[in-house]
Amino acid sequence: MIKLASLSKYFGETVVLDGIDLTIEKGEIVVIIGPSGTGKSTLLRCINFLEQPTGGTITVGDLTVDVKRASRADILSLRRQTAFVFQNYALFANKSALENIAERLLVVDKWPKEKAHQKAREILGKIGLAEKADAYPASMSGGQQQRVAIGRAMAAGAEVILFDEPTSSLDPEWVEEVLGLMKQLAAERQTMLVVTHEMSFARDVADRVIFVDGGHIVEQGPPSEIFQNPKDPRTKDFLKKIL
Ligand code: ATP
Ligand code: MG
Repeated sequence: MIKLASLSKYFGETVVLDGIDLTIEKGEIVVIIGPSGTGKSTLLRCINFLEQPTGGTITVGDLTVDVKRASRADILSLRRQTAFVFQNYALFANKSALENIAERLLVVDKWPKEKAHQKAREILGKIGLAEKADAYPASMSGGQQQRVAIGRAMAAGAEVILFDEPTSSLDPEWVEEVLGLMKQLAAERQTMLVVTHEMSFARDVADRVIFVDGGHIVEQGPPSEIFQNPKDPRTKDFLKKIL
């Protein structure tokens, strides 16, 4: 379970997140949509302190953190319970697929090397890249690199995986294989919070779609409701442009 209460973020005087309240149940797949520059990435980045939030509390599993009083140990715990998949993969260029997946287990979770590599091999099989264990990112397609990045997130066994536009940097030909892997994770009921413009993914996979604008949650509900019967004029306007 993950819960944000009155989460806010200011950049200087600019309010980017204006008191977000959001609870995501274990196993829930939540998709965030909304116009550019409206705070979607900032929201994800505040959850694991890639950005320092300005106010509010973050609960992940058993841990509740008042962001103004977060200790280093709190931040590490939040990071341990969340995994992040970036638009641009963010793999280590000088590490193989296997090492990229094992890295967090070794460094953050302090697993012994043998165990971490065994787990990484297991994950590589699961994401259909067993034969790429020793390949470096530069020799893999965008789709394969992003699958490794998702594998890295899976290895962590985190409470929630945060995806920030995971298919936006991909050539169109690789989008489906990445969405396919995300669907596989969703079917396993991995808790996921996904920012995406892939409306078909939102429609088919999300339990809940959240429309954000101007640092607020404007409207949320099951995809059928949001897509077929949006209530707020801002949601209607956004969907008209994107669908
Ligand atoms: P997009 O759909 O284009 O990815 P977004 O909804 O993810 O947009 P954010 O990247 O969260 O939007 O940005 C929200 C606002 O915060 C924008 O106005 C942006 O310029 C501003 N912003 C983001 N990061 C910073 C920063 N480090 N310093 C100052 N302003 C920032
Ligand atoms: Mg963004």
